[in-house]
Formats: sequence, structure tokens, C-alpha cells
Amino acid sequence: MTTSRLQYDFDFAVAGGGPAGSSAAISLGQYGHSVVLFEREAFPRFHIGESLLSTANDAFTALGVTKQIEAACFPNKWGARLFTHDGQSGRYVDFTDVREVTRPQTYQVCRQEFDRILLDRAREVGVDVREGWNVSACEFAPDAAILDVASRTDSSTRRVRVRALIDATGRGGLIARKFNLRTDEPRLANIAVFSHYTNVPRLEGSRPDDIRLIARSDAGWFWLIPISKELTSVGVVLPVRLYRRLATGSPEDTLNSAISDTPLVADLMCKARREWPVRVEKDFSYSASAYAGDRWILAGDAGFFLDPVFSTGVSVAMESGIEAAAELHRALMRNDFSASSFAAFSRRHRKRFKTFRRFVVGFYTPQFRDIFFSPEPPSLIFRSVVTILAGRWNASLWTRFLNQLFFGAVSIQKRFNITPAVFRRDQDAGYPSETRSEKACERTNAPTLANARRPGSS
Ligand SMILES: Cc1cc2nc3c(=O)[nH]c(=O)nc-3n(C[C@H](O)[C@H](O)[C@H](O)COP(=O)(O)OP(=O)(O)OC[C@H]3O[C@@H](n4cnc5c(N)ncnc54)[C@H](O)[C@@H]3O)c2cc1C
Repeated sequence: MTTSRLQYDFDFAVAGGGPAGSSAAISLGQYGHSVVLFEREAFPRFHIGESLLSTANDAFTALGVTKQIEAACFPNKWGARLFTHDGQSGRYVDFTDVREVTRPQTYQVCRQEFDRILLDRAREVGVDVREGWNVSACEFAPDAAILDVASRTDSSTRRVRVRALIDATGRGGLIARKFNLRTDEPRLANIAVFSHYTNVPRLEGSRPDDIRLIARSDAGWFWLIPISKELTSVGVVLPVRLYRRLATGSPEDTLNSAISDTPLVADLMCKARREWPVRVEKDFSYSASAYAGDRWILAGDAGFFLDPVFSTGVSVAMESGIEAAAELHRALMRNDFSASSFAAFSRRHRKRFKTFRRFVVGFYTPQFRDIFFSPEPPSLIFRSVVTILAGRWNASLWTRFLNQLFFGAVSIQKRFNITPAVFRRDQDAGYPSETRSEKACERTNAPTLANARRPGSS
């Protein structure tokens, strides 16, 4: 033990203090390890990503922050309201329909406050949290991970030696860039333009703070997320070709014109006041060819991120941060930090990515939207879809089988209208085109009864 104290500055380091990094650091601290976390920014800092999934509640329990989150009085989210561009269909994605989550109700959060709660909890469990410290480089020796870190306040630099590193640097992707691991998602080359507004009316009824997902008549869509009593986050997401056509002026002009040519949104925003500059985000969908290697693991956006349409980012970030910490804990017990010892983590993470990706890619086809926005889809099948969208990507076999049927219906909709074809199919609608390999993949994923059994059946 004395030798290892001399050899290592800390047991583990975490790069990045967003939800993935804080969750990883808290979990490692809870196991009793010595942990240092480097966060480039000084908190509070702005971050997009405000709508959570039901499964975030499991992460809160594991991290010991349930009370702090409740005390923050974030708006309650029970699901999503889906609208077509003209406001015709107001169907509901109701998380209370889901049987496979521990608690359906979740939150819409102001990230400055949310991320601070998690980082404070990391300090509380003994993590050495260094805000304003950039991890500028890392290398991996047979017996250690070595980080070069630089203070952004006084420009001082340090070298830190640890047993292993969790990279939670988000889209910055410290390790993914170092080892060239990033895989683009050309089908999801979308651009988001957004800001925060006051005076946006809330939904009527008992769940006023649910997220509104409003499809445009083309391939774009809007989110409206209440993040406090006063503020609503409003953004539009457009496939890149469509964006190039519509973005004629400043980001502000683009957002305003997207709002004004989407009747329902124009109506809701007629008295709204913008409280922040308009921001633009792009290149946000990607995965990685590896999620772990010798003495490193990627958590959250450092590994993969998918389009914001189903609000998976923060929940995946926390979940993968907790899992990465469990991996390092086990690795320490076995004294084996090799890539092969993290194979199970990588497999699980890839499965999580593929499950969500299928829905996200599907959303950018008119046939998926016809069925997804349909006012009366078959309830059993739709519930299985909502189960995944509540965050339960590793759902029961029965749910996964029903999901296959849902995607089977989407495939059939490409040839026959099993539900009215509400969404435009013309080139100008801006949907990305399907690649050959995706068509082949869809064929191999076709549902068969042999794919699944009902729970309880033998
Ligand atoms: C337009 C848009 C809308 C979104 N909407 C939602 C939503 O509604 N719901 C949702 O769940 N998700 C949403 N997301 C996704 C969400 O923003 C991310 O998935 C989430 O923040 C990932 O958390 P993370 O901890 O992995 O990364 P981050 O939250 O990005 O945290 C990474 C941290 O690492 C720090 N860092 C970076 N590099 C270094 C370095 N070299 N050294 C030290 N620190 C470093 C950064 O400062 C940052 O604080 C959205 C994303 C986009 C683009």
C-alpha cells in the first residue's frame, strides 16, 4: 500500500465535470478510492441538455443526490407531448405507462444548477475537485495513466500519475481524439439553434412542464422545455441540407424564421422574450470505435452522443459514469486495467448506443413520424416504444420484441400506408437519405416470433 501511495498521486483521475464525470467521480469516491477530477471551466457554466429520462432517478439514488435534486424544485417531467407542425395531433408519450422503470416522473433541469449539485456531491464524498483545470494531454504506461494538467487561472502546470483515467470530457473527447476513435453519423448531421425565453405559455392540465416536441412540416423539429418557473428552453433541430437552405442570416434570424414558419410554435412564442443569445450546435452525433482501453474508459459524450430528439444525453452520461466507476473498482480488485478486462463495459455501452440510435435515425424518416405522431397507435406496441424512450434501453425481451414490431410497421409504411401519410416525402422536406448498409441492416432486423418470447413463457 505504501508503495502504491508513492507510485500514484491518486488512485483514479476523471477528466471533465459534467454529469458523466461527476457521476463517475462520486461513485469512485463512494467505493473509498482517492479520486481527482479536473474540470476546465469554473462552475456555474452554461450547458445545453435540459430534459431528463425516468432512468435518471436510478442514477440519483446510486449517487445519493435524490434529496438535493428534489430540493432544487426543477420542473417535473412526466413525459412528452408530440405535436405536428399545425398543432393537429397532441399525442402523449406518458412515462407513467412504463412498467420497467422504478419511478416515471423525472425533471427538466437548468444545467448550471444541476451540474453544480453533482459536482458538490463529488466533493462531499471526498473527491478532489479542481475547477478551472484543463487536461491538456494524457498518456498510458504499462503501470499508470499520466495526465498533463494546466490551471486556467495562473497558467501553472502539473503532471499527475494515477492507476487509470475516466475520460468524461464530453464532445471535446480527449481520448477519442488522441486515438482517433470517433465515428461520424452522416445520417444525423443535424444542426441545433436555440435560446432561453420567458413568457412561453405552459401546457394546460396537470402536467404543465412536460417537454413539447413539435415536428415541422419538413424534417426539422422543435423542443420546448420549461427549465424553471420563468424560463423555457426553445430550440430547432434541422438536418444540415435543410439548415443551409433556411439559414440565410444570423443564428437569431434563423431561429426567428424557423419559429415563424411553424404555426404552432409561432403561436406559442408570440409574447415570448429571449433572455440569452441564440446559440448554434453542430457535429453532435457520433460514436467511438472503442469505449475502453488499457487504463482508460470513456463515459458520457466522450464516448458517444446521439441527436437530442429523445433527450438521452444526460441520463446516458450519468449511467455510463457510474458503470465506468464500477469497472475501475473491479479492475483494482483484480489488479488488471487492460482493455480486455473492460470488454463487458464496451459491449454494454455499444448496445445502449445501438438501441437509442435506431430510434433516433428512425425519427428522421417520414414513415417513422407518421406512426410515432399518429393519434392512435396500437397501445401495447407504443408502450414498448415509450419504455425505451423513458431510458430503459435494456428492456425485457418482450418489450424488445414489441419494439421490433414497431420498426416492422415503420418498414411497411414505406410501401403501404398503414396509417395516413401525414409527413412530406418530397426532396425539399430535407430528410437524410438511407444508405445501402442501413437498408440491409433493416432487413436483418426484421421481426420474427423466434426473436423473443413473452416474459414467463418457456
Ligand atoms: C442541442 C442539444 C440539445 C440537447 N438536449 C438534451 C436534452 O434535452 N436532454 C439530455 O439529456 N441531453 C441533451 N443533450 C445532450 C447533453 O448536452 C449531453 O449529452 C450531456 O451534457 C453529456 O454529459 P457529459 O458529462 O458526458 O458531457 P458534458 O456535459 O459536455 O461535460 C463535459 C465537461 O468536460 C469539460 N472538459 C472538456 N474538455 C476538458 C479537458 N480537456 N479538461 C478538463 N475538462 C474538460 C467541459 O468543460 C464540460 O464541463 C443535448 C445536446 C445538444 C447538442
